[in-house]
Amino acid sequence: MPSPKASYAKGCEDCVKMGGEWVHLRECLACGHMACCDSSPHRHATKHFHTTQHAVMRSVEPGERWGWCYVDEVMVEM
Ligand SMILES: [Zn+2]
Ligand SMILES: [Zn+2]
Repeated sequence: MPSPKASYAKGCEDCVKMGGEWVHLRECLACGHMACCDSSPHRHATKHFHTTQHAVMRSVEPGERWGWCYVDEVMVEM
């Protein structure tokens, strides 16, 4: 993949720590935490919401411009 954003290259912070793998990456709009989506084995984005109550995560996949609100369970256009 040619020159991904620095934040994207980091990957899911919790997966990197535990040596896990992720499918897609999400970024918390409240604190900038990088976490993996619900298609990933560990679903860290959902866990981040449950532990912090930070409700909105956005996709950081190249070309994707949307976010997801866990409280309202709606997709948000970015
Ligand atoms: Zn993860
Ligand atoms: Zn957060």
